[in-house]
Amino acid sequence: MYGYFGTTVLQAGLLFSGILTFGQITDRWLETSLVFVSGALVISVIRRNQLYDWLQKKSDEKMSRLPGLWLDMSERITHRENEVKKAELRAREQLMSLQQSLSSLDAGLVSLTDQWRIQWWNEPASRLLGLRTEYDEEAALFNLVRTPELIRYVEEQNFELPITLPSPITSGRMLEYTVCPVRDSGILLVVRDVTRFTRLERMRSDFIANISHELKTPLTVINGYLETIVDNQMVAPQGQRAITQALRQAERMNQLLQDLLLLSQLETTPLGSKPSVISVKEILEHALREGNELKHALDKQNTQIRLDDISAMTLSGDWKELASAIGNLTANAVRYCPDGSDIRLGFCVEGDHGVLTVTDDGPGIPPEHLPRLTERFYRVDNSHSPATGGTGLGLAIVKHVMLRHGGVLDIQSKPNQGSTFRCLFPKDRLGTIKAVAAP
Ligand code: ADP
Repeated sequence: MYGYFGTTVLQAGLLFSGILTFGQITDRWLETSLVFVSGALVISVIRRNQLYDWLQKKSDEKMSRLPGLWLDMSERITHRENEVKKAELRAREQLMSLQQSLSSLDAGLVSLTDQWRIQWWNEPASRLLGLRTEYDEEAALFNLVRTPELIRYVEEQNFELPITLPSPITSGRMLEYTVCPVRDSGILLVVRDVTRFTRLERMRSDFIANISHELKTPLTVINGYLETIVDNQMVAPQGQRAITQALRQAERMNQLLQDLLLLSQLETTPLGSKPSVISVKEILEHALREGNELKHALDKQNTQIRLDDISAMTLSGDWKELASAIGNLTANAVRYCPDGSDIRLGFCVEGDHGVLTVTDDGPGIPPEHLPRLTERFYRVDNSHSPATGGTGLGLAIVKHVMLRHGGVLDIQSKPNQGSTFRCLFPKDRLGTIKAVAAP
């Protein structure tokens, strides 16, 4: 009622006037003072205990039994408590509405601890992953999604790209997992149903594979007849140029179909579970031989293709695919560099990676083209390709081969300063020569 200061002054005033009055009546100042001060102390201890009792019981009733300052203190405590309760209620409501909004999302969200234990999930996540509150709270994610691919993906700690895996509860359904580490508060896992998308992708690659396959047979026949006509000089001299052109275009088309088939095969079939152990030296020598053949075919006699000093390293993977990737890079260097260029094939170990390199001192590639080079049919200069014999699929094939081998293709190039194509393989694919698969 009087506030903290007022109450304190009032109580002190009462104490003093009590001591003065009784001190004068009794004329025993010391004893009177002691009695009054002790009394005041006893009262304050009793009040403090009453307040403590009230706090302990957390009773909702008002502390009407306490006078003055004590009542004021209890009222302030009650007021604070009410405010905290209101804030808690508001936070709860906000959390509920946030959870409802997250549940209305199309994607499943799972909040995980740093140890990949499930803390919370939204409605779509329970639908997609079959999560149930009574069993799965605090459960390890890997007990739920039991695929070695997910464990490997998590171990590699590279979450730039999402991973697509079959659903753990519905056969035929494909789920895409995106891992988003949240600073200081675990991990957020975003789960999306990509069944329709994967089906469409599959239909697209099947369509390309089928059409390439269907076109291959008639084209082989056309090629065969054209070759027979050219070889046996069965056309009049004025028709010779046309028939040679037709043969060249048919061969180009054949190469295009082969590349399309290879690409769709790379996209749709999993890499064999038992990779071969491949000698790096042998695979590079193979690319060197093919490069030399192409160089003669393109009449670039002065172009030099050299093999760097190669250690006795091995790579585990698919011989055909890796040979095709290195072959494509070497063929590109021969095609796009002028006669007299210097092309080097090499291999080295850099940190955690084995790196196969194809380096040339040719025209280089302007920086604006670099991010798009591995797209299908992307060419720096469209007018060049028919002359150089490329299909526009070479680097797309290399990229896919690298992805299938857990690696990446890195391209470094500057106009007029040549190019370096680097195939980076993960450490677990490296080895040293002991037993090597025959090509
Ligand atoms: P293509 O069949 O046309 O060669 P690629 O996918 O192999 O298709 O290459 C894409 C484009 O990258 C090529 O068209 C070419 O312009 C450019 N390119 C590839 N390799 C080199 C290189 N070594 N030097 C310069 N340009 C290159």
